[in-house]
Amino acid sequence: MSCLFCQIADKTIPARLAYEDEQVLAFHDINPQAPVHVLVIPRKHITSLLDITADDDALVGSLVRRARELAGELGLGERGFRLVFNAGSDAGYSVFHIHLHLVGGRPLGWPPG
Ligand code: 5GP
Ligand code: ZN
Repeated sequence: MSCLFCQIADKTIPARLAYEDEQVLAFHDINPQAPVHVLVIPRKHITSLLDITADDDALVGSLVRRARELAGELGLGERGFRLVFNAGSDAGYSVFHIHLHLVGGRPLGWPPG
């Protein structure tokens, strides 16, 4: 198996876990861009946002809801946070297993770079 995030999901490669259940995993980004930078992923390998289908609606919703829960647990509920899915080269998408970035703990600029 060559997918980095599948390997994190099956514990072949270590990561600092923030949450896991049968369908979803969350772990701290290895190169954090803010005091809180967590990646929320499905255990199911989906290469990109371009590949999601209606069958994935509930799964993608569970990523968003889990990120929201983690934001609260990590103290960001009141002060705010950002959820980001990157896709494609213009967005700098670099690990080809969908992941929702949860970023916060500092003021975040807008528009993004
Ligand atoms: P992308 O640019 O594809 O949306 O984000 C990929 C993210 O994965 C980056 O923020 C990067 O720092 C993170 N990342 C890449 N390799 C690893 C790794 O081995 N472990 C962890 N925890 N994060 C990683
Ligand atoms: Zn994968």
